[in-house]
Formats: sequence, C-alpha cells, structure tokens
Amino acid sequence: MSNKPIAVVTGASSGIGTAAAAHLVASGYQVYIGARRLDRLSKVADAIGATALELDVTDASSVLAFCEKVPAVNVLVNSAGGALGFETIADADEEKWRTMFDSNVLGTMRMVRALLPKMEASGAGHIVNISSIAGIEVYPGGGGYTAAKHAVRALTETLRLELLGKPIRVTEIAPGLVETEFSLVRFGGDAERAKKPYEGMTPLTADDVAEAIVWAVTRPAHVNIDTMVIRPLDQATATLIHRKPNN
Ligand code: NAP
Repeated sequence: MSNKPIAVVTGASSGIGTAAAAHLVASGYQVYIGARRLDRLSKVADAIGATALELDVTDASSVLAFCEKVPAVNVLVNSAGGALGFETIADADEEKWRTMFDSNVLGTMRMVRALLPKMEASGAGHIVNISSIAGIEVYPGGGGYTAAKHAVRALTETLRLELLGKPIRVTEIAPGLVETEFSLVRFGGDAERAKKPYEGMTPLTADDVAEAIVWAVTRPAHVNIDTMVIRPLDQATATLIHRKPNN
C-alpha cells in the first residue's frame, strides 16, 4: 500500500468534484472518487489516476458499500449535490425538495458518519463540505436549495463543535456562480436556460474552487480554515450580478 495521504471526493463525475479530485492527485494524494454515473466516473479516474467507486449518497447502503472499500481516509470532500428547479415556495415541488435535502444534507451526514472512524484513526482527518453562497443568503425561486445549503452550513458548524479535541479539521467552501453542469441539472437538461446564469459575466471555474480546497487541506495540521466564501468578481450577491450588455 502506498504511503500517500488518502482523499475521498463525492460527486466527482462532474464539475467541482472532478476538479477537486484532479488537484488532489496532483498534490500527492491517493484519491477515491464516487458518483452515480460510473461510466463517467471511470473516465475521470482513468484520466487523472484516481480510483472510481459507484456511490449514491442518497442511499445508505451505497454509502456503506463505498466507504468499506476505502482502506483509510485523511480528506473527505463532500461535493455531491446540487439544485433542482427554480419554483417559488408557493409552487414548490416536494419531490425536488426531498431530493435536494437527501443529496446535499443527508448525503453529507451519511458520508461523514461512515468515514469518521477512519478519519480519526488517520490521526489527521479533514472534512471539506461544499456548501454555497446559497447557504448564507437567499433568493426568490431558490427556496429548496437555499434551505438545504443553510442546513449544510449548520451541519458543518455543528461538526466543528462536536469534533473539538479530535484530529479532524472541518472546512466549509461556499462558492458563488461556478460554470459546471449545475445549471443544466437544475433546469432539467434545458441547455439554453442553463446558459443564462453565466451570460455577460465571468463565472468561477471548477478549478478555481478546487485550488481553494487544496489550499485549505494543505495548511499545517494545527490550522483549520473554517469557511471560504468565493465569488466571481462580477457577483456581489446571489441576485446582484454585473453583466456586460449584449453587443
Ligand atoms: P455538477 O457539475 O452538476 O456536479 C454535481 C456532482 O454531484 C456530479 O458529479 C453528480 O454525479 C454528483 N451527484 C449528484 N447527486 C448525487 C448523488 N445522489 N450521489 C452521488 N453523487 C451525486 O455541479 P457542481 O457545480 O460541480 O456541484 C458540486 C457541488 O457544488 C454541489 O454540492 C453544488 O450544490 C455546489 N455548488 C455549486 C455551485 C455552482 O454554481 N456550480 C455554486 C455553489 C455550490 P452523478 O450524477 O454521476 O451522481
């Protein structure tokens, strides 16, 4: 077995998770990646030199099967999740809310709960939860997603209290607009609508966020980066965005 530190990244078949996994491999970690689409995940793993394992964070037995296959863990990056829909609360779709809470909130809890013993045993564990600016502010049409990400933030802060005295750091990364498949998923595969949030502005890239993750996990072991809020220069709040006029 290699003596490299081991990182686990959920939601690594796309976007921030893929970039985080690539940057962690480049920084000397042995990386295990999980997501539901095993075909895509395997391509990512082959391209970057990671190990792909099927994972559905909404399914407790899938989480346990995944975690049993990981021999040890130093870093856990919880990136699996996202938003579904843009309905007001008056028109809320219960199934979408349930899925958002299940993947973003309960999924993070399930991964943390399953891997805590291995992180503690490592002597230097680190949990990195990808929340969002939606965890610190709200916007019309974002009710289900902002509620879920506020819960991720609360879960993350609670963990930091409960793990005090143990060798496990806890970091929240809260990005603004990042151009990934996030909007495509949110708008049910509608590619035209998915482009709109990024029109006339320069969003963050998944690599921008991945660099912040790697920076946080490579600080000396006694340093805990609590929260990093990372926005595009063009974005002041979830709804206040500077857009260049169309030519
Ligand atoms: P993305 O490109 O859509 O990636 C989402 C990833 O989550 C995919 O790999 C997807 O893989 C995985 N996933 C979704 N449900 C899952 C489940 N039940 N079990 C396992 N994996 C699951 O979006 P992204 O922007 O990288 O999003 C990553 C995280 O960043 C999310 O938590 C999102 O809320 C957060 N975030 C995104 C932005 C943004 O603007 N993009 C901003 C702030 C925060 P499979 O479909 O293959 O399972």
